[in-house]
Amino acid sequence: MRRQPPPPHLRPDTVLIRGGTIRTDQDETSEAVFLTSGFVYDSAEQAEATFLGTTSHWVYSRFGNPTVVNLERRLAALEGAEACRMTATGMAAVHAALLAHLKTGDRVVASRALFGSCHWIISTLLPRYGIFSTFVDGHDLDQWRQALSSPTALVLLETPSNPMLDLVDLPAVAALAHQVGALVVVDNVFATPLLQHPLRQGADVVVYSCTKHMDGQGRVLGGAVLGSQKWVDETLQPFLRNTGPALSPFNAWVILKGLETLRLRVDAMCSRALTLASFLEAHPAVEAVRYPFLDSHPQVALARSLMSAGGTLVTFTLRGGKEAAFRFCNALRLIDISNNLGDARSLLTHPATTTHLRIGPEERARLGISEGTLRLSVGLEDVDDLRDDLARGLEAAGDTP
Ligand SMILES: *Cc1c(COP(=O)(O)O)cnc(C)c1O
Repeated sequence: MRRQPPPPHLRPDTVLIRGGTIRTDQDETSEAVFLTSGFVYDSAEQAEATFLGTTSHWVYSRFGNPTVVNLERRLAALEGAEACRMTATGMAAVHAALLAHLKTGDRVVASRALFGSCHWIISTLLPRYGIFSTFVDGHDLDQWRQALSSPTALVLLETPSNPMLDLVDLPAVAALAHQVGALVVVDNVFATPLLQHPLRQGADVVVYSCTKHMDGQGRVLGGAVLGSQKWVDETLQPFLRNTGPALSPFNAWVILKGLETLRLRVDAMCSRALTLASFLEAHPAVEAVRYPFLDSHPQVALARSLMSAGGTLVTFTLRGGKEAAFRFCNALRLIDISNNLGDARSLLTHPATTTHLRIGPEERARLGISEGTLRLSVGLEDVDDLRDDLARGLEAAGDTP
């Protein structure tokens, strides 16, 4: 007798572990890795019927692979989306969501504070195809209102944003966007699928870099696009199938294993982040701290209405500019200097000379990034060890050279 399948509508923490499981007739406990590019048919007739679409059979891993589909089903159930497609990287996910939807003559409105490569796609790549954009300061609803008073095909935004952790009033922006017929695409990497639910707040499409918290241990790259079944089937899937940014089944498996501990990791990282943000805020060498759940955040009320915790990143600005920031980085003995985020290891980056070097000083000033600004991705180490390391950095930063 075969056991009954799991009940539908499982809660998120259960979905993280069991959602979408495709168990083979070998009765394995852990998900199988289907490290295969192709599939075989029982007969020429079955191959023909598969290509006609009259029977369902795996065809080719660029179109679909059982391990990858396992992950797609898990993420769709977690996000409350009708459908999900995985991509090789987070950038492939953003690129596919935009290019699958847009055509020459379309207009895009985007928040100015975007991940660097997202900014490049919108400001540099899209205009080559006759698609032009308006950037707005994401926290300023008046700018959104103004920009969304003319026809718009797509809105792209990131909230909280990198690195200043500004928020966008997503329900308000989505309502404005829908009035002019725009598809609302939200990059939800910083909030993770556990802390914020953009589809419930008016977004049409959510994109992720699974490289960050979902893998969570700094091993593989991956991306995901989630949306309605109709949009995924009719708009996204033909683009993915024919352009080929497919996720490796092995990487899909690593991300599946990562998801099993996502809740434990994100909750622990958020609690450490809040502790460290409060510690930094109290220190005289620190000019300002940005953390969505600190009372000093200019949008703390919005943050509390959109998110269930403040996230795993803390951004702070040191008095003493670049020199102080560099002394801080170089005095650390535990926290690594790295531009990645969402890792079990705490990572620190100086945006002005790394991730936000290319955008130039004027754009950095507009985003509120100064020479003394540092972005900390809080990991899973003991919070007291992390605080001791930050104290080492602060002591060095406060030294007069
Ligand atoms: C990392 C990141 C991306 C890009 O993801 P990759 O997996 O590195 O391609 C996009 N958006 C945000 C907010 C990110 O942090």
